[in-house]
Amino acid sequence: MAKWQVGVFASIDAGLGVHLEVAQELGVPTIQVHAPHAGTRTPEAAAAFLERCAAAGITITAVFGGFDGESYADIATTAETVGLVPQDTRAARLQEMKEISDFTKLLNCDTVALHIGFVPHDTSCDDYQALVETTRDLLDHVKANGQQLNLETGQETAEHLLQFISDVDRDNLFINFDPANMILYGTGEPIAALRQVAKYVRSIHCKDALWAAEDVRGTAWGQEVALGQGDVGIENYLRTLQEVGYAGPLTIEREIPQDRERQKADIGQAVSLLESLRSSILG
Ligand code: MG
Repeated sequence: MAKWQVGVFASIDAGLGVHLEVAQELGVPTIQVHAPHAGTRTPEAAAAFLERCAAAGITITAVFGGFDGESYADIATTAETVGLVPQDTRAARLQEMKEISDFTKLLNCDTVALHIGFVPHDTSCDDYQALVETTRDLLDHVKANGQQLNLETGQETAEHLLQFISDVDRDNLFINFDPANMILYGTGEPIAALRQVAKYVRSIHCKDALWAAEDVRGTAWGQEVALGQGDVGIENYLRTLQEVGYAGPLTIEREIPQDRERQKADIGQAVSLLESLRSSILG
């Protein structure tokens, strides 16, 4: 695949991403997709979606898992409900992630991705160890499907994410780096974080955000904004990706599904911005 192909986050049946038609109209050659709900994860659905992608000249580069009951209403609710961390749903979600990995294989894609949730800070506690074991269990299944698992950034600091990856100790665990999430969750300056975790970065999001006020940072959301209008510094972000040797797709994420017109317009501008920066940086 050519270096830095522009992409967009899309949805097969529901979710925050754009519909495939929008990706097609925007002329992007790659997408990441939200996994569809259980009833839609069939061989027939996979074949039909692949056929539409092929007709549109679009390659699927990653499939993101997600679960019923997750809520990003505020940071505290996110910590309680998202990913494999919440204990009550962990076993069921582990099973569902394995099914999503199987569906990803049907889509001929080698990358599954996930918001794992707020990894416990105390690495000596039982729950941290249990999460490490759950993640290993998932990674073994993912590996049998010939895949890697990329963890979305934001819910952990760069240091804590590196510690977790090291403790899990598997060779198919990597990172989907989202610079805006570091700002939204207040977990660290994104460019410094990118340099720290660079060797694990296998996919990325191009998303932008404004920091929350300093006194509430980490407890209240920052604000997601159109690419180029936030605090990430997109040119610096791309130059840093170049510096650390990242060659994968540049996947635009704009999470305003409640306003599909604006979402499409903002993504269209993001495509232009990325194409222009790409040509100036790569020459
Ligand atoms: Mg993201």
